[in-house]
This record gives sequence, C-alpha cells and structure tokens, in this order.
Amino acid sequence: MQTRPVSDCVHCHICRRECAFLSKYEIDIGDTEKLRELAFHCFLCGKCTEVCPLHIDGRQVVLDLRAERVDSGEKAQIIKDYKGLVREKKDYVYRNWKHASEGCVFFPGCNFPSMYPKTTAAISRMLAEHGIGTVYECCGKPIAELGLVEEEKQIIERIKSRLYDNKITEIVTGCPNCRAFFGDRLGVKVTGIFSKFTELGIGSRVDGDFLFYLPCPDRVEKKWIEEIRPFINGRIDFIEGVECCGLGGSAIKYESDIAESFADKLKDRCAAQPGGNCNPDSGNRSIVTYCASCTGRFKRSGFGEIDHILTKVSGTNEAPDTAKSYINRVLTRFK
Ligand code: SF4
Ligand code: SF4
Repeated sequence: MQTRPVSDCVHCHICRRECAFLSKYEIDIGDTEKLRELAFHCFLCGKCTEVCPLHIDGRQVVLDLRAERVDSGEKAQIIKDYKGLVREKKDYVYRNWKHASEGCVFFPGCNFPSMYPKTTAAISRMLAEHGIGTVYECCGKPIAELGLVEEEKQIIERIKSRLYDNKITEIVTGCPNCRAFFGDRLGVKVTGIFSKFTELGIGSRVDGDFLFYLPCPDRVEKKWIEEIRPFINGRIDFIEGVECCGLGGSAIKYESDIAESFADKLKDRCAAQPGGNCNPDSGNRSIVTYCASCTGRFKRSGFGEIDHILTKVSGTNEAPDTAKSYINRVLTRFK
C-alpha cells in the first residue's frame, strides 16, 4: 500500500487513541517535534500505521526520527544508553556457524534459543535428519531499531558474506522478527519454520481450540499464521487490541509501566473472548503465539499462561526459561 508523508497528518487523534504511549504524552504521529524527543519511548508495534486513515506509516516515522537523532550528534549517547544491547548484538557475541550446512540452514535467532533451549535442540535434531544444520546469530533488528543505520548495514553484509562462504541458499527462521527484518535483503530464500516442517512432513498436529496472540510483524497481514493452520486440529481465534508484549523498540527502558501494562491488557482481552479463559488448564482454549520474545516478556510481566505453538508442534511443551535466558543464549556459542 502507498503510504503518505507525515506532513499530511490531520491530527484526527486516531493513532493516539489506539496507543498507550501516544496517549500518555497526548501527541499524534504528526506532532513531529515532540515525537522526535520521545522517539525512543515508542514500542515500534505498528498499531498507528494500521489505524491511520491517511495511510501514514507511524512506525517508519519513528524509525526515521531515531535515525535522524543518531545522525545529528546523539549517536555516542544512544550507544551509551543501550550499551548492553549494542555490545552484545552489534557484532553478535554468541554467534556460532560451526554447524552450518550447504544449501539450507535453520536460523532460530537469538531470543528463541534463550527462552526455549530444549525446543531449539529438538528442532535442530529434527532438521539435521534432513541435512539441515543450525546457525546461531542475531538478525540485527534490535540494532536497526535504535536508528544505527551504519551498524545495521554492517550486520546484513556480514550475514550475507557468511551465507555466501557457506554456500547457503535458504534460511529457515524460527522467529517472525528475523523473518520480517530479513525480507528479501539477504539475496537467499527465507522460509518460516512451519512451512519447512510441512515441506519435510515433520512436526505434530495439535488438538484443541486456540486463541492466538499475533506477533507484531504478522498482525496486519496474518499470512504466517496460515502456515501454522495445518498443524492445528481445532479452531483458531485471535486476540485483538494489545499493541505489544512490551519488548518492541527497546522502549521498555523509558516506559516500563506501559510495558508492564500490556500483560494485564492481554489477560483482560483473553477473558473477554467468548469462551475465553486465562487459565488453559481450566478452560477449553489455550493461549498461544509464535514469538519467543512475546512469551518471555508476558511471563516476566506476570502472565505466563501463553505458550509458544512451536513447542507443541515439536512435542517439547517447554515453558519459556526466563530465569536462565541469558545463560541459554551464551551457551549457543559453544554448541
Ligand atoms: S491517525 Fe494518521 S492522520 Fe490521524 S493523527 Fe494519527 S497520523 Fe495523523
Ligand atoms: S509504533 Fe506503536 S507504540 Fe509507537 S507510536 Fe505507533 S502505536 Fe504507538
């Protein structure tokens, strides 16, 4: 869809009404000066983009404002403000390409192995039987979202060069954020894990009705959920009206209260669904998603009743390991 420039904003306040961050500061996406100051308070969830009647891409507006601030003298300060994240992900510290296979590789990303080490290992074993190795790498999205455009380019070039050196022509992503971020910029085929399972005839069908919380990269188009449908023996419904899990855009640094509030919102929305129940053990519908960042974040915010559907399809039924997530990530370096 053709988007329009932010200068076309008519201040109808629709984006503000749908967004906890804009509403807290009583601004619209078109309030450029104030939004520039607050650019790092935005969760980059894309809700404003989705609802704007003039098709102004609010998420991109904020990303551009972040890049503008980096470019106009604030880079050192921004790197300092996010030093832990930048140190780890700018040139991914826990990278491991030892098990790369020619042709096709599994790319679980950095967060899925942190939260789901057993499931990552199980999927790696399943794919290894089909000659597909696993590489541990960060896609670069967290760095790109800080407006660090040069570093983002370097990450993509490094990954492309590794793909070339290893003669890799297809990567299978376990994380919807990696998949969305890569798009077609790597010059190789990017496949979702559920499509690859279907192609190889692996993975279990899961019985039951499910309430899906859609990760932000798939919330509007709902196309990747279609790749999951063949694995569900039951009904699929969607939970609407929760902008983010709280991790998006690294905004939690400044907006921890809003980030925490998303879990309560999710709980309320689940309960409001017909037949909805926030405790899958006592209800008839499980609450699931397909983003490890979301399950981990919601669990940390006190709503642990949301599972990753991949743990069910791969048969591990693993809960997100929020207590040891960092250690799990470190260990991928040595696999
Ligand atoms: S919804 Fe669109 S037009 Fe309305 S205030 Fe927001 S950005 Fe402006
Ligand atoms: S991207 Fe999300 S958090 Fe940021 S302004 Fe838009 S709706 Fe609000």
